[in-house]
Amino acid sequence: MLTNDELAKWDRESFFHPSTHLGQFARGEAPQRIVTSGEGVFITDRDGNRLLDGFAGLYCVNVGYGRQEIAEAIADQARELAYYHAYAGHGSEVNITLSKMVMDRAPEGMARVYFGLGGSDANETNIKLVWYYNNILGRPEKKKIISRWRGYHGSGLMTGSLTGLELFHKKFDLPLAQVIHTEAPYYYRREDSNMSEAEFTAHCVARLEELIAAEGADTIAAFIGEPVLGTGGIVPPPAGYWQAIQKVLDKHDILMIADEVVTGFGRLGSMFGSDHYGIKPDLITSAKGLTSAYAPLSATIVGQKMWDVLTRGTDEYGVLGHGWTYSAHPIGAAAGVANLKLIDQLGLVKNAGETGTYFWQTMREQVGGHAHVGEVRGEGMLCAVELVADKDKRAFFDPAEGKGAKVVAAMLKRGVIARAMPQGDIIGFAPPLCLTRQEADQIISVTKDAITEVL
Ligand code: PLP
Repeated sequence: MLTNDELAKWDRESFFHPSTHLGQFARGEAPQRIVTSGEGVFITDRDGNRLLDGFAGLYCVNVGYGRQEIAEAIADQARELAYYHAYAGHGSEVNITLSKMVMDRAPEGMARVYFGLGGSDANETNIKLVWYYNNILGRPEKKKIISRWRGYHGSGLMTGSLTGLELFHKKFDLPLAQVIHTEAPYYYRREDSNMSEAEFTAHCVARLEELIAAEGADTIAAFIGEPVLGTGGIVPPPAGYWQAIQKVLDKHDILMIADEVVTGFGRLGSMFGSDHYGIKPDLITSAKGLTSAYAPLSATIVGQKMWDVLTRGTDEYGVLGHGWTYSAHPIGAAAGVANLKLIDQLGLVKNAGETGTYFWQTMREQVGGHAHVGEVRGEGMLCAVELVADKDKRAFFDPAEGKGAKVVAAMLKRGVIARAMPQGDIIGFAPPLCLTRQEADQIISVTKDAITEVL
């Protein structure tokens, strides 16, 4: 067996890690953690640390680690039929079963599910479908996509463009010209602090209307948004936001894409964020919670209106030329079937609502009064603690000080993983949906101690 030092050296010398400071990592200046196992909400690393994972990996291990039911389903599927493609009407029992299970859980008005590998490729699929849709309807100029600043939709060429965070554009020649961004529904960061939530919603809607008027509704195909902004800072929308946005989109015949990669399959305490906020999207993107990350799989759920046009398109133009080798991969599908069964059996959607709400509300009570905590916010099993230099002025710390990262490092020393979100000093939490109140209390107490130590 390799020693820890040998493994660490191979890691630095051969592994190109995603979303990593490459130079620092190669020089051994950046954190390096080699994870060996997981059980429930805990992971263990090669140095023997047992850490409570307050971010469920990357908000994806929703049922928790070490679930034998899912491991066995994957192994059984690998032995029986590891792979066969899904092109031209092919399928297997497992991916057909999963499609039925997804559609049984999908919001009203959805017609079919297309399986890919992850959130980025699912959003690429969505944009292609939107463009195809408008071409079939004979309006080839209706192609632009509106996204929000602070939205996160992936790291591909189109999805990295949809993402409204500078880090994902910088030096990549993104965003592409077809993508335009509108204001983030980020009430805490409103410019005019006298605005009520309702007024801020009206302000966001007005900004969207202005953008549509400036670009021309006949050039805009779709609007994409996460029900709760995730990587951009874990920001639930202000009251009435989604209903108001839906009205504007309907008025201008602009499709709505709900990016539910984080919120899909229970994280908000509802099966989908679209149900949670009462919206009726034309397309839903989902991934992470579909398999709880036991295997890569995404699901693009297509609404009836779009489905009717897609089928018309293939009647006119033949086969829809879109697919991946690994679309609907049977091993991913086996993980998905076992995962969705487990979510039902353990009542995890309900727990996300109940324990999740307990978690962020108690976090607010416990740390919200600190002089450098500007806001504690949450929805379901999502929570954010936003740090500020000056509470009254909502003033940012100098980013070079890396206060958020320092608090997260101080938490790690105390055995809890949280995430320093990429923009602003925001500490993010998205624990597995099976979190107990006792585990929630542990995260809160560690957060409090770490904030006291650093600030
Ligand atoms: N959309 C949202 C809302 C996400 O949070 C993510 C990833 O975090 C993605 C899309 C991209 O998914 P993936 O990383 O699986 O490509």
